[in-house]
Amino acid sequence: MSRFLGVDIGGTFLKVAFKEDDEIKTEKVAVKDIQKKDYFLRSLSQVIKKYNPHRIGIAIAGLVDKKTGLLTNSPNLKFLEGLNLKEFIEREFNVEVFVENDANVAAYGEYVYGNGKDSKVLVCLTLGTGLGGGLVIDGKIFSGVSGSAMEIGHITIEKDGFLCHCGRKGCLESYVSSYGLERLYCLISEDRKTSFDIINLAKQNDEKAVQTFEVFTDYLAIGIMSIAHIFNPDTVLLAGGIIENYPMVLTLTKSKVEKLVFPLPLRDLHIDTAKLGSWSGAYGALALAEIYSS
Ligand SMILES: [Zn+2]
Repeated sequence: MSRFLGVDIGGTFLKVAFKEDDEIKTEKVAVKDIQKKDYFLRSLSQVIKKYNPHRIGIAIAGLVDKKTGLLTNSPNLKFLEGLNLKEFIEREFNVEVFVENDANVAAYGEYVYGNGKDSKVLVCLTLGTGLGGGLVIDGKIFSGVSGSAMEIGHITIEKDGFLCHCGRKGCLESYVSSYGLERLYCLISEDRKTSFDIINLAKQNDEKAVQTFEVFTDYLAIGIMSIAHIFNPDTVLLAGGIIENYPMVLTLTKSKVEKLVFPLPLRDLHIDTAKLGSWSGAYGALALAEIYSS
């Protein structure tokens, strides 16, 4: 009997996927004051004790240094920077642990349990507060030499464009994310609204909001074109709240990509939404524990 545990560490919750034999259970664990390291580690330890797994996979927002296991550059989980989570859990619980960047893990979750099954070259883009990218080639996560590959959100698409959260200008993320959407809307309407409101306005065919999504998907299509020309994927999946709440993004983007990409890579390119939604990280972490070993 084998027990595997996947944990997706978010800004307010731990999302858990647990598999015993062939049965998968999911659980969302609210953590009071998750930004306090002690509270976070206590909650994580309770989850591990409860499920008592043989192996653990962890999805975490930020760059995980492949050589040291340390988490670096995690804007939403600042308190975890410099912590070696893998070492900590392995020492405390004597189980094997795999830690990966959440966007990579989301792509892996879609590969194993979602809409990326049987894909040879799979790219998953998560459009949320930021723009995350993950790549799975022949069933293996591609994360580069140090573990920092696929920072698709930070490729430059406008010289001297919008200021990105990373401090650079004109990054794809600064257009194709919730804050990118808000800025584009502000530019077009000279009015400030949240991404949630902009989506609702677009659903009601508000002219300015619809126009905002035209520009938003122009940038997204350019990003996917670059991905298609570099990696020649068979599957590109779009995940995150914006896509889930406004599926029109997929339709608009697909028709734009068709006009931009070379015929050969376009022939085998399939663009779709992700299947697992906000659970792709937890499922991907579970899949890491189950199957993946680096
Ligand atoms: Zn950036």
